[in-house]
Amino acid sequence: MEGEVISKNFIEQIIDRDLEEGKYQKIVTRFPPEPNGYLHIGHAKSIILNAGIAKEYNGTFNLRFDDTNPMKEKSEYVESILEDVKWLGADFGDKIYYASDYFDAMYESAVRLIKKGKAFVCDLTAEEIREYRGTLKKPGKDSPYRSRSVEENLDLFERMKNGEFADGAKVLRAKIDMASPNINMRDPVIYRIARMTHHNTGDKWCIYPMYDFAHPIEDALEGVTHSLCTLEFEDHRPLYDWVVKELEFEFPPKQIEFAKLYLQNVITGKRYIKKLVEDGIVDGWDDPRLVSISALRRKGVTPEAIRMFMELSGVSKANSTSDMAMLEYCIREDLRMKAKRMMAVIDPIKLVIDNYPEGESELLEIENNQENEELGTRMVSFSRELYIERGDFMEVPPKKYFRLFPGNEVRLKNAYFVTCTDFVKDENGNVTEVHCTYDPATKSGSGFEGRKVKGTIHWVDAASAVDASVRLYENLIQDEEEVLKDDYSNLNPNSFIEMKNCKLEAAFSDTAKGERFQFLRHGYFCADSKDSTEEQLVFNRIVSLKSSYRPK
Ligand code: ATP
Ligand code: MG
Repeated sequence: MEGEVISKNFIEQIIDRDLEEGKYQKIVTRFPPEPNGYLHIGHAKSIILNAGIAKEYNGTFNLRFDDTNPMKEKSEYVESILEDVKWLGADFGDKIYYASDYFDAMYESAVRLIKKGKAFVCDLTAEEIREYRGTLKKPGKDSPYRSRSVEENLDLFERMKNGEFADGAKVLRAKIDMASPNINMRDPVIYRIARMTHHNTGDKWCIYPMYDFAHPIEDALEGVTHSLCTLEFEDHRPLYDWVVKELEFEFPPKQIEFAKLYLQNVITGKRYIKKLVEDGIVDGWDDPRLVSISALRRKGVTPEAIRMFMELSGVSKANSTSDMAMLEYCIREDLRMKAKRMMAVIDPIKLVIDNYPEGESELLEIENNQENEELGTRMVSFSRELYIERGDFMEVPPKKYFRLFPGNEVRLKNAYFVTCTDFVKDENGNVTEVHCTYDPATKSGSGFEGRKVKGTIHWVDAASAVDASVRLYENLIQDEEEVLKDDYSNLNPNSFIEMKNCKLEAAFSDTAKGERFQFLRHGYFCADSKDSTEEQLVFNRIVSLKSSYRPK
């Protein structure tokens, strides 16, 4: 894609215009996660978009924890979010912003609104406020407290702050328009009393600002120029604009909404992922079946693949769902040149070459990646006893089966041609061993052109093989189903399968946690960052080699 002219998205077009008109000098964007869960692929879209725009316009990108609601927030989440944002490669500079650092400024802003006659303390209960608010069809009614004097409001608001009133006894509301067709503009609550300990400010405050009031102030204080958020905030934009206008910021930020990223058949959404974790359906937030960023990372997906995916899926105003197959395509594309291609037998049976001298072995030089010479070569040992995939032998082959069956000749990848001569079964009728003979003249790379064979299979030398577990993942939801049912009755029973007796070529023996490979004929795999050790290697399948996605 590099070098190609990519047309600008609607957000870039708005920014170009704003710069032309001299509205802003320097572009500032932000990503404002609420630390109430782990980030997922949807958040990655927002991170990559915001950081990408800042970079493109030589501006800055702020990471800001939107921690104004002390109820659901945990420092565990702050840590994980930081790790995820860094891993995605988003450059947020040296400073981390916290919305809670602005509590004083927000309080001052509220006082300012009161002084301008634009906010009032209201004693209605939450239920009364709801009743007075009206409906989409019916205008609201003014609160009887709406006409309180500025002095009275200032006094009451200060006493709210000082803890003189019970939780919920009073609120501060913006004074806008109870007849507005936009319900968000009907004198919205901007401060509430709540005695909650905040992870940053402790018990300093017993009043906390509401999101719609706090967010534009946070943006304005940081000099954010374009506040990119998802479509559900579209109806809140008039309130955002009202707040920055009434507070008379010199360079008011501008909110722009874009469509969330949804993946077909895949559970995104913090709330839903959290439920799967809490219900024990998955093994923690980083279970590789999830699309939380920590899960994708653990599975072995690269940040480059995620960025490519976001590039391909684009930014738009219209809701749509993207296909997981497209992300998988990006993963394959990214790893194609980077990963060494080595041999791993996931479901092994023995292959014995009866005419290969007993006790002898040889080293074959094999390219690590046929498409990328820079990855060099390695020496792979070959001897009389090998492992091959159980599925690469059949006693009675169906039509078009070109792999091993009695009498058939195949190529052992990078080695020799072998002809199947016999096989052994156990008492249950399972094949335990396949026998063959090899033709020394057919050595790979020797220039042999005597005859061709239709099938090529991979293999691992038994004497030097290393043991490993291989974890195979599929979607959590059964394929044809749209969404996961509440009772979990349509979970995919094969979403996680661990193959414990895999045989890998010796070159895998010093695999580090997080290292990625192509297992020839199988797909891309990553050594599990938690469970893989030198004694017991554990690999996750990142993606298989088969693709159902075709790039346009
Ligand atoms: P969820 O919708 O999963 O519950 P959230 O919106 O509550 O997530 P926040 O921490 O509030 O999570 O979101 C931080 C930022 O990420 C917001 O700007 C939000 O709009 C954006 N975001 C959340 N989900 C998506 C998504 N699926 N696609 C794009 N951006 C998203
Ligand atoms: Mg949210």
